[in-house]
Amino acid sequence: MKETSKSPPDLKPSDELSAMRRALLAWYDDGGRTLPWRVRPEDRAKGITPDPYAVWLSEIMLQQTTVPHATPYWRKFLARFPTVTDLAQADRDEVLAMWAGLGYYARARNLHKCAGVVADDHDGVFPLTETALLKLPGIGAYTAATIAAICHDEATTIVDGNVERVISRIFMVQTPLPKGKSDLRALAAALSDPTLDGFERPGDYGQAVMDLGATVCTPRSPTCGLCPWSGDCAAKAAGVQTDYPKKTPKKKLPVRHGAAFVLRSGDAVLLHRRPDTGLLGGMMGFPGTEWGPKPKDDVIRAAEPTPRNWEQSAVEVRHVFTHFELRLSVFHSEIAAELRGEATGDVAIWAPLDRIKDYALPTVMTKVLKAAH
Ligand code: SF4
Repeated sequence: MKETSKSPPDLKPSDELSAMRRALLAWYDDGGRTLPWRVRPEDRAKGITPDPYAVWLSEIMLQQTTVPHATPYWRKFLARFPTVTDLAQADRDEVLAMWAGLGYYARARNLHKCAGVVADDHDGVFPLTETALLKLPGIGAYTAATIAAICHDEATTIVDGNVERVISRIFMVQTPLPKGKSDLRALAAALSDPTLDGFERPGDYGQAVMDLGATVCTPRSPTCGLCPWSGDCAAKAAGVQTDYPKKTPKKKLPVRHGAAFVLRSGDAVLLHRRPDTGLLGGMMGFPGTEWGPKPKDDVIRAAEPTPRNWEQSAVEVRHVFTHFELRLSVFHSEIAAELRGEATGDVAIWAPLDRIKDYALPTVMTKVLKAAH
């Protein structure tokens, strides 16, 4: 049995929902964020429409990071690849290198793949409906709903972390996340139901709920005095805003261990390309062991590239991925330039240290390099 304080069908009378939507849109007209990829309501009124390519880029970049961190990347991508066709025609390594620092590299690979599909199958024109967007690689339910709402004014249900927080507080949803997601989605859908009267500007409405969560209904200190929904909010009335959303306590992440080898020769270091599939797929990194549940000296010794005079760094690299924490022992060695032999093109590369940024090293490998010096 569901534990929401109210279930979607009788959550609030429809005239109250309509009043909430009007209040939120009025707040958004003055208080919504100005973002470089966004067309503000006053500009929409003048007939300016958002560029779906630019919106898609921003949404993919923002999935695991903040607006200030993503914005320079977004600008760099748009300057280098002004259209989705330009991005599709780019070398994938260049795209991965430009993505370095944003993390979650599967996203960069999918970005490139998706650009290819839009260029080839849609003549370089981004599809705009939620249904069509969902068929593109790397576009999930949230991104499809968001692009369709923002760029096509489709009345989709947008649910991100910000929206979940706002809705959970308004209705004091008791089921903890992640189990409570379906309740929150049902409540968000009821609030953005296009069949209720007076629902205008679905794109602005979707952006407004996200903005409310990002700027007013913040996780630790919501500024309820500025909130257009303060009179509708059950958590505010009860004085328990920050108890929501309820969350299932996180399990401690498992730890995996491994080793990485940094071989230097003159001004260059040896990099290997990781296999295309799996974590950090296709990215450059240092040769190393598999990552396993226990540190094993014999595994490390078996993986040591020649030469064998490896020195272990005092610093152990720690890096947290979504599902585990990685601890890497770092070994370093040096060989004379004339002994280094051929590095084989695409798989192994001697990378000049002064151009290391060009090689799309994921953050964990940047930590390895730092630990080796
Ligand atoms: S009243 Fe406060 S807690 Fe409730 S939605 Fe608004 S900002 Fe969030």
